[in-house]
Amino acid sequence: MLPAFFDSVVDLITRTSTDLPPDVRAAMDLALKTEAPATRAGQAITIIAQNIDQASSCEGPICQDTGMPTFEVKVPVGANQIWMRQQIREAVAEATRRGKLRPNSVDSITGENSGNNLGPGTPIIHFDQWENSEIEIKLILKGGGCENTNAQYSLPTELDHLGRADRSLAGVRKCILHAVWKAQGKGCSPGAVGVCIGGDRTSGYTHAKEQLFRTLDDRNPDERLAALEDTIMEEANKLAVGPMGFSGRTSLIGCKVGAQNRLPASFFVSVAYDCWAFRRLGVRIDATSGDITSWLYREGTTASTPLLSPEAVAAGFPRTGREISLSAPISDEQIRSLKVGDVVLISGRMFTGRDAVHAHLMKHEPPVDLTGGVLYHCGPVVKKEGDSWRVTAAGPTTSIREEPYQAEILERYGVRVVIGKGGMGARTLAGLQASGAVYLNAIGGAAQFYARCIERVEGVSLMEFGTPEAMWHLQVRDFPAIVTMDAHGSSLHKVVEEASGKILETLA
Ligand code: SF4
Repeated sequence: MLPAFFDSVVDLITRTSTDLPPDVRAAMDLALKTEAPATRAGQAITIIAQNIDQASSCEGPICQDTGMPTFEVKVPVGANQIWMRQQIREAVAEATRRGKLRPNSVDSITGENSGNNLGPGTPIIHFDQWENSEIEIKLILKGGGCENTNAQYSLPTELDHLGRADRSLAGVRKCILHAVWKAQGKGCSPGAVGVCIGGDRTSGYTHAKEQLFRTLDDRNPDERLAALEDTIMEEANKLAVGPMGFSGRTSLIGCKVGAQNRLPASFFVSVAYDCWAFRRLGVRIDATSGDITSWLYREGTTASTPLLSPEAVAAGFPRTGREISLSAPISDEQIRSLKVGDVVLISGRMFTGRDAVHAHLMKHEPPVDLTGGVLYHCGPVVKKEGDSWRVTAAGPTTSIREEPYQAEILERYGVRVVIGKGGMGARTLAGLQASGAVYLNAIGGAAQFYARCIERVEGVSLMEFGTPEAMWHLQVRDFPAIVTMDAHGSSLHKVVEEASGKILETLA
C-alpha cells in the first residue's frame, strides 16, 4: 500500500491550515491596498496581513478555528477507498496531535469533544473515481463563524431592504447581496461566497460549498453566471460592511456561482460563506508510492509571497497614538469613559470563556473572581509543554452565540470587558449599560497575532469541557481591540448594519 500516503495527507492538512494559497493572498493584498491605513478597516486588514505572514513563517494555524476538514478525493479505478479513508482519518488525528488542527469534533448530544477531530461525520470525505492514474485530494478548512452565516433562500421570497426576489437570475442576485449584508462581520469579512442556484436543500448547500474549491480569479465558463459573479463583486463591495463589519471598502473577496437542476416546485439559492481565512489547498499523489507529485492552487511553486515586509510584521499593531491602555481590575469610571470607536490595548489578566463556560456560569459560581475582569470569547489552540501550557493560536470566536447569557453574567459577576467578534444583540447592549461594561471587537481569525500578545498561561479551569471550551487564565500585553458596543447604549454593529441596509435599498 502507498507508503508515503499518510505523510502526504498530513503535509496537505498542515499547509492548508497554516498557509493561504496565492489567489487568496492576492485578494487580501488588494484589500490591504484598498483600505486607508489609519481607519478601523485599515487597522483590521493590517493585523490580518500580519497574521497571515506570521502563520506561514511559523507553520502555526492561521485561525484557531481550524474548521470542519472537508476532503474531495479523486481516485483511479480500482483504488482501495476503504484503506484511503482510514489513512486520511489517521492523518487528521496526527495533525491534531501536532497542533495544526484544533480538536473540533464534538458529540452533538453530550457536548463531549473527541479530542482528535474524529467522530461520526467528522472529517467529511467525498470520493469520486476518474480516468486518471494519479490521486487528487483537495481540502477546505471552513470554520464555525462563517459556517453559521451560510444562508438558504426559497424563491420567491421577500427580503429586507430588497423587496421581492423572483425565480430568476435577478432574484438570485438579490439573495446573494442579502446574504453578504446579513453576515456583516460575523463571518470574519471580507469573505467569499460559493453559491448554488437550484438543487434540493441538501445538494444545494453541497454544491455551494464545492464552488469554494474554485480559485478566486477564475472565470465561470457559463457567461450568464460569470456576469452575475462580476455584478455581485461590484455591488457587494459598495455595501460598506468592510473588514470585520467595521465599515470600509472591502466586504467580499470572491463570488463563485454554480447551478444544479431542480424540481419544478422548488427554487433554492444556497450560499456558503467563507471568511478571509479561506484555507483551501490540494495535491496530486502518485498512486503507487503515495508521494505528492504537485500542489494544486500553487501554480507550480510551493513558496508563498509574504503580504508585508518582515519589518512591518515585526512592528505589530499599527498605532495612531490615540489608543487607550487598560488592565484588570477595571473600574466603572474607566469603562464609562470609553466610546464606540476607541481602540483599547488590554494588559494583565484575561479569562477565556465560550459556549460551555457561559452555560456553566448560569448555574454555578465562576471558578475565579471575575470582578472588574476581562472575558475573552475564544477557544484557543493550546500545547502542553512539560508542566506548563503554551497558546499557539488565539483569535476571537463569534460572540452572538452568548447573547442569551451575557447580560446576566455581566450583572452577576461584575465582568467589565467582553472581547469577541461580530458584535452582540440588544439584550447585551442593555446589559452593558446597566452593569457598566463594554464589548470589544478583536480581529476575527487573527490567531497568530493574538497568540503573540499572550505572555503566559497562568492556569486553566473547567478543563472537563475540552481544550477550546475550558476557561484559560491568560496574562496578556497590549492586546488590541476596538470598542464596538459601549456603556452608553451605542453599537457600531447596529450603525453599520443600518447604513449598509440603506445602501442595499439603492441596489434593489
Ligand atoms: S477567520 Fe473567523 S470565521 Fe474564519 S474560521 Fe476563523 S474565527 Fe471562524
